[in-house]
Amino acid sequence: MRVVRVTRLLACVLVTLAAADCGSSTRRAAPAVSQANDPWFRSGQEAIAEALSVERIEGRAKNVILFVGDGLDVPTVTAARIYEGQLRGQLGEENTLSFERLPYRALLKTYNTNQQVADSAGSGTALLAGVKTKAGLIGVDENVVRGNCASADGHEVSSLFGLAQQAGLATGVVTTARLTHATPASAFGHSPERNWEADADMPSRAIDEGCTDLARQLVEGVVGSQIQVALGGGRGYFLPGDADDPEGVTGLRLDERNLVEQWEHAHPRGRFVWNREQLLSIDPAKTDQVLGLFESDHMAFEADRDRSGEPSLTEMTAKALDMLSEHAAGYVLLVEAGRIDHAHHYDNAYRALTATVELAEAVELAMDRTDPENTLIIVTSDHGHTMTISGYPTRGNPILGMVVSNDASGTSKMTPTLAADGKPYTTLSYANGPSAPRRGDRADLSGFDTTGQNFQQPAAVPLAMETHGGADVPSFARGPMAHLLSGTAEQSLVFHVILHAADLGRAR
Ligand SMILES: [Zn+2]
Repeated sequence: MRVVRVTRLLACVLVTLAAADCGSSTRRAAPAVSQANDPWFRSGQEAIAEALSVERIEGRAKNVILFVGDGLDVPTVTAARIYEGQLRGQLGEENTLSFERLPYRALLKTYNTNQQVADSAGSGTALLAGVKTKAGLIGVDENVVRGNCASADGHEVSSLFGLAQQAGLATGVVTTARLTHATPASAFGHSPERNWEADADMPSRAIDEGCTDLARQLVEGVVGSQIQVALGGGRGYFLPGDADDPEGVTGLRLDERNLVEQWEHAHPRGRFVWNREQLLSIDPAKTDQVLGLFESDHMAFEADRDRSGEPSLTEMTAKALDMLSEHAAGYVLLVEAGRIDHAHHYDNAYRALTATVELAEAVELAMDRTDPENTLIIVTSDHGHTMTISGYPTRGNPILGMVVSNDASGTSKMTPTLAADGKPYTTLSYANGPSAPRRGDRADLSGFDTTGQNFQQPAAVPLAMETHGGADVPSFARGPMAHLLSGTAEQSLVFHVILHAADLGRAR
């Protein structure tokens, strides 16, 4: 870059052509722009000034925070941005989610090695180990046969967490899904089958061949056992059926192991917590590790959360940062908004958007509490979904509402627009999923409140669950080497950017 600039300057000096592009030394005569006072024009000018002021940070990342919105694709970002703005009483489209203010962006290709549309195990492994692999595989390479324990032996890949721990960094994982679910498990686990979360999920042959379930790997594994902060759901996967569960739910384990007690025994200066109050009361100076299991299964959707009983994603992120910041060498923290995905699988945009708004709040907290000079923040997704934003709704139309379009003069018609079948339709809809009619015509939504919490947006193809989508997902980043995450790239690049920024790991 510098060589090019010097060469160009030399050309200016030697040739002295008035028309030559000599950077700031000669300015083109700028014709007047008639729309210069238009607010859209001014905001574009401000965006240029801001982009010019962004300086690359080339130092080493002491800390890394990787946020993964499970299923956070571009339509979800756009719809959540509008939704958050409308919650604030704005029209919505002009709003900006916290992570959209991060200066570097990329589009990531999410496919698995054997599947055009990704699942969270293969994509979690790409994000956290830097190699693409097959769908359903956690922390093992693509040569493994899914569900075949013996085939996984020797194919384990090094995870970001393992490399960070070897370099002396603290590690933490926070999720609203089960801690043994695909994305968090990719941080510490190796399994030829993502569904082997407890021994009860495993065929006896796999157990005989020496594979262990993901809950056990979190407590006993080389990487899992060294994690300082692990917060999420999935308590049932850690407890046997006869255990005293704090919320009275029967544990799932068949091997009679009580992994919570085992964890407490292994970490005498650690604390096990299962509700919000216990989590918030933890003193980081007196606690070396924390295991938080706030639900027997996944944690509640943000929209349904018991605000006094269960911590939010933001509260968990805050406590994780409190704990990890105690480590002078730095830390790697993975934060997953795990339930955006589940809401989409139900064709339920309301819960997907509220979970995304909560993710934006957690990112905002991390942005406020960290220094871009030494902390790399990346916000991305494992894969997309099938939700679309369509029709021609008028500006500021409720994003969860029915399409109300404009009349010929360009102003709102005020009443829902009717489709060719004489029925209204929503702005958000899904390509497939449980809300699609199995036979017959689509439902008539006339007079229906489509903005409610339990409304399932219409879908075209009837499936028991809505599927993932195969379009590229966005990433947003700031901090050391964040500029390396740009353009269109393989999803696994995220891992390599982190490795380079934090100076972790060397190829053997
Ligand atoms: Zn999913």
